[in-house]
Amino acid sequence: MKRPRIALGALLFEGNTLSPVITGRADFASKYLASGAEIPAKLASTNTEISGALEVFRGADVEVVPLIATHGGAGGRVSAGCYGELRDELLGRLKAAGPVDGVYLALHGAFIAEGTDDAEGEILAAVAAVVGRAVPIAVSCDLHGHITPAMTRHAQILIGYREYPHDDTRETGGRAATLLLRAIRGQIRPVSRFRRAPMILPAQRQRTKGDGPMREIIDLARAREADGSVLAASYFCVQPWLDLPGVGVTAVAVADGDAAAADRVAEEIVRLHWNKRREFLVSTEQPAEAIRKGRALAGGPVILADAADCVGGGASGDSSVVLRALIEHAPDQTAAIHLVDPETVAEARRVGVGGRFRARLGNRLATLGGPPVVAEVTVERIEPKAAFRYSGGLMGGVEAAIGDAAVVAIGPIKVLCTSLSSYEYADEHFLALGLDPRRMKFVVVKNPMNYQQVYAGAPAMFVLDTPGPTTCNLASVGWRRLDRPCFPMEDGFEPVFASG
Ligand SMILES: [Zn+2]
Repeated sequence: MKRPRIALGALLFEGNTLSPVITGRADFASKYLASGAEIPAKLASTNTEISGALEVFRGADVEVVPLIATHGGAGGRVSAGCYGELRDELLGRLKAAGPVDGVYLALHGAFIAEGTDDAEGEILAAVAAVVGRAVPIAVSCDLHGHITPAMTRHAQILIGYREYPHDDTRETGGRAATLLLRAIRGQIRPVSRFRRAPMILPAQRQRTKGDGPMREIIDLARAREADGSVLAASYFCVQPWLDLPGVGVTAVAVADGDAAAADRVAEEIVRLHWNKRREFLVSTEQPAEAIRKGRALAGGPVILADAADCVGGGASGDSSVVLRALIEHAPDQTAAIHLVDPETVAEARRVGVGGRFRARLGNRLATLGGPPVVAEVTVERIEPKAAFRYSGGLMGGVEAAIGDAAVVAIGPIKVLCTSLSSYEYADEHFLALGLDPRRMKFVVVKNPMNYQQVYAGAPAMFVLDTPGPTTCNLASVGWRRLDRPCFPMEDGFEPVFASG
């Protein structure tokens, strides 16, 4: 067989319809954004899907046709202009490449833009139209992907990350590439099918390592791969903050020529997920109560999880609700919190290190938490054009720009203010500005999951009842477009597991 030509690209974004943030090209560029021949150079040594796929293709004598590769993180919708540019560049490069034998795209599932609720479906339909129906398309998605009928219609191979925290992005790219190569060589005839449960779930209990409620679901998926029922079985917990029809937890199976088998396995997995739904619900604490309990414990860091302000889920990262509670209830305790707050950074730069000023902190975009927190602060550090390299996870090895940054102190409480928002994997952002969270009494984290791994030895971790577009209290959201009935807003109804 002649040397296969495979087009490869990545276009990831996690949309959140509850978020006020409009995402533009700069937000993609601040994570990674590479075109054509730049892609291998920029991403080969990272933990990205592209890196894993490139490794498989290098070992298989493949001519790789790199398209574009970028991750916009999460936010509200992507601006129409930015989405159009990225889509057109991907499709333009694919058309210019001439005939290819296969396509691999790393996507998220949940890419929404101004004017479209299903960017991935649109892109895959356009890719299929360019390459022709006989050319296999492989897609990998985030475990929180929103899987739409257009996606399984156009991607014969559709798989997801197996791990949350997402430490297996590179392996996922490798698995997708391996299946694609087998399809190109005529060894398999892949077909993908999904089943969806009428539910959305908070992320806090979706940990894939250990004995949480995901354990049996994972074991079932691996068993159906091992017994040969299907080539790949994936569970998609879905980004729950999408007020759209057709949103729910899904399972996708890829079978060898047997669509009915794929459908059967997808149904079996999503039914198990449904049966375990109540195990995923979480209880929360008021910030003041969590701080009171934390103060009574010896040592630190006590983790205060403000997961409702999770940039990685689409929030603005500028909520100062927990800062207000710390100032009120623990002004004598060391603490670290991150706020996206370009105004405070600018003021800190104006007065300089050692200077003091009356700051208005956060809550400009996150208005559900009240007005900005007004406090007298001392500027402790200023870092123009700050950046850090991710230590792991789906951005592992990628350098993130957080813009001009400053640390301002309110007594022992340290506030890391940055001009740009950033996906929170571990504590890289604090360390980049000289703050060691492990030496603090309290650390405010703004994600629902990754901190559980990062601060595994912490004396206590509290999930806070705070307002925001990534709340774990899904029943509190005023849903308008979501299909109903839907757990956890409703329960005790007979579920229909929609297929596609
Ligand atoms: Zn995810």
